[in-house]
Amino acid sequence: MADANAIAANLAQVRERIVRAAARATSGAARGPEEIKLIAVSKTFPPAAIRAAYELGVRDFGENRVQEWEAKSAELTGLDATWHLIGHLQSNKAKKAAQLFHRVDSVDSLALAQRLDSAAGELGKQLGVLIEVKLGGEETKSGVAPGELPALADGISRLARLDVKGLMTVPPFSESPEDVRRYFRELRGLRDDLSGRVGFALPVLSMGMSHDFEVAIEEGATEIRVGTGIFGARKKAEDARR
Ligand SMILES: *Cc1c(COP(=O)(O)O)cnc(C)c1O
Repeated sequence: MADANAIAANLAQVRERIVRAAARATSGAARGPEEIKLIAVSKTFPPAAIRAAYELGVRDFGENRVQEWEAKSAELTGLDATWHLIGHLQSNKAKKAAQLFHRVDSVDSLALAQRLDSAAGELGKQLGVLIEVKLGGEETKSGVAPGELPALADGISRLARLDVKGLMTVPPFSESPEDVRRYFRELRGLRDDLSGRVGFALPVLSMGMSHDFEVAIEEGATEIRVGTGIFGARKKAEDARR
């Protein structure tokens, strides 16, 4: 595992990359780096790594498994951070997820949204959500197909306890970030169409990971999800299960 010094050096590099990419953002997306939220993806890494990043000013963290975060969170009480669920969520874990996370960034069905809504109601809280969109049509990926996005957004917007903030995507993997530029552009277009249709702003575009976040920022990302770029490489065996 990366120690605190390595995390500090990595984080400084990531922040520098964000500043440079924001300066290159295409028109309409041009923004200051402070408007781009860095979500540190801490899956597979221990609480000590999360605490190190927190002490370096990180205030948003992403985890992809409810049980893993449940175990780690017990050691991290009192941190004033926003915890995002970024991995696929099964409906039977919706209640626990609503309890443990501030935001669920991977909502991809109305059934799941309804479960989250009733869980949030029982907990007396509002839950922010992103709709995960599947671009590129890969069978194995989660996310709603673009054609089904308007109906899903419409359905979710009627749920009193959920606040839809925007869209998230994990595009098909490519070694070259330039190959996925079109997917980032597509997500932004979908968001623009959708917010016109539903009649409220959908400010969040969560797109871009360690190897391609510059391109995502150039195409209008407002949140990027960075794991290995901050914490170092994950163990292969653990990553394969995800
Ligand atoms: C693991 C993960 C990331 C971070 O990936 P890195 O390549 O380590 O930056 C981002 N988003 C999701 C949904 C993930 O599961």
